[in-house]
Amino acid sequence: MTDAPLKLFNSLTRELEAFQPIHEGEARVYTCGPTVYNYQHIGNMRAYIFADTLGRTLSHKGLKLSHVINITDVGHLTSDADAGDDKMEKAAAAQGKSAWDIARYYQEVFEADLDRLNVRKPAHPRATDYVTSMIEWGKQMEEKHCYELESGLYFDVSTVPDYGRLARAVTEDGEGRIDEVEGKRNAADFAIWRKTPPGETRQMEWDSPWGKGAPGWHLECSVMSAELLGHPFDIHTGGIDHREIHHPNEIAQNQAHNCSSDSAARIWMHNNFLIDRRGKMSKSTGEFLVLQTLVDRGYHPLAYRMMCLQAHYRSELEFSWEGLEAALVRLKRMVILAERLQDALPQPEAEHPKFAPALEKFETAIADDLNTPIALTALEDALSIKKVDAGIKRAVVEAMDEVLGLELFSLTRADLRLRPKTAEISEGEIEEALTRRKTARAEKDFAKSDAIRDELAAKGVEVMDGDPLGWEWKLG
Ligand code: AMP
Ligand code: ZN
Repeated sequence: MTDAPLKLFNSLTRELEAFQPIHEGEARVYTCGPTVYNYQHIGNMRAYIFADTLGRTLSHKGLKLSHVINITDVGHLTSDADAGDDKMEKAAAAQGKSAWDIARYYQEVFEADLDRLNVRKPAHPRATDYVTSMIEWGKQMEEKHCYELESGLYFDVSTVPDYGRLARAVTEDGEGRIDEVEGKRNAADFAIWRKTPPGETRQMEWDSPWGKGAPGWHLECSVMSAELLGHPFDIHTGGIDHREIHHPNEIAQNQAHNCSSDSAARIWMHNNFLIDRRGKMSKSTGEFLVLQTLVDRGYHPLAYRMMCLQAHYRSELEFSWEGLEAALVRLKRMVILAERLQDALPQPEAEHPKFAPALEKFETAIADDLNTPIALTALEDALSIKKVDAGIKRAVVEAMDEVLGLELFSLTRADLRLRPKTAEISEGEIEEALTRRKTARAEKDFAKSDAIRDELAAKGVEVMDGDPLGWEWKLG
């Protein structure tokens, strides 16, 4: 394949930058993971599909990838600005379970969803396993950068150079932030340690030099990225909301801990939001879609991955069921074309001039800050090239799919059939009725064939004679 140098959009400089690994032949990526007090909605999953596409691209470029997605199982308050309740403790109280059980349950669901979306398995460290290191960081930063209040240990953002440069925020008065903690020096100051209020016991609490309590949410990512990837490391990712508070705070901690003005990650990348008609999909507003809802409505999870890839990660993406159906149909067209190559032996070394334009287009697109919408069209170009060796074609398509992660050679058209959970009829029954109908038609018994069709229609099954995509039926 052509070797276009990889350019990525760095939120720190707001510019496209050529990617230069810090350690030769390696790429180290840290992605802010879920707070496991609830299900991750499909907007959250967009963040991980993006991070996975980035990881796959780095691997495609021949780099050995280390990828971490942390699990926030402690410390995240209902407001990012250090106010409100602890998300984990609140969910535990509401559901009558222990905070630890809640965390394990939602972590498992999250990992299963990553799997269903074909996100390659990254490392999943849990914040609660790093509390000792977080306390060490607190002790080390305390003297020069922190001050203690009744409620906890706070980081003074005025003690580091250029606080908030990632957000491009006016920091003097913490614009856009409400000062909800009594005694804070700057509105943007944030908790390193939150003390358990006197007379209370938290389910998740640890001893520390500042009393019993729990770490502030921002601290875990600084500590885990340093321990698992080293400082500096290559790329830090997250949703665009993190560009405003969480990541500036991580940077401030990294600067304080490392006694350096450096942010500790070379490139900071942020995916834009998944929105719907009401605006940004969010957990706190109550109603949101989880991957399982899509599956219950009959959609294969990879149709959602396709939907995400159809938009550039830095653009907003509006979710609609029509859009998801269009993505499903597009994926099915690809799978049908790939089916024809199923028996071919991939020939990765062999070349064919007919593939050169598609390959060039693919490589240029993916190297251009992960332009997946264009890369998808290059994959379709390759799939529709005719009169070429099937083994070469298979190798080209496989290599592209390795980056996009659509599993074109494992999926079958039957996997992509709409299968709503509410259906009153099983697939076996549908297939059986269709076989009876075929026989009736062969015997020219059209009354019987129409009767079977009506019988199926009454159960929500639309019979699709002569459908170009080969869908023989569809559940409405
Ligand atoms: P959380 O569990 O709230 O910490 O969020 C997990 C990840 O999802 C973070 O990187 C968020 O920035 C990201 N995120 C949250 N809402 C959305 C959304 N509607 N669309 C895309 N990413 C989101
Ligand atoms: Zn983080």
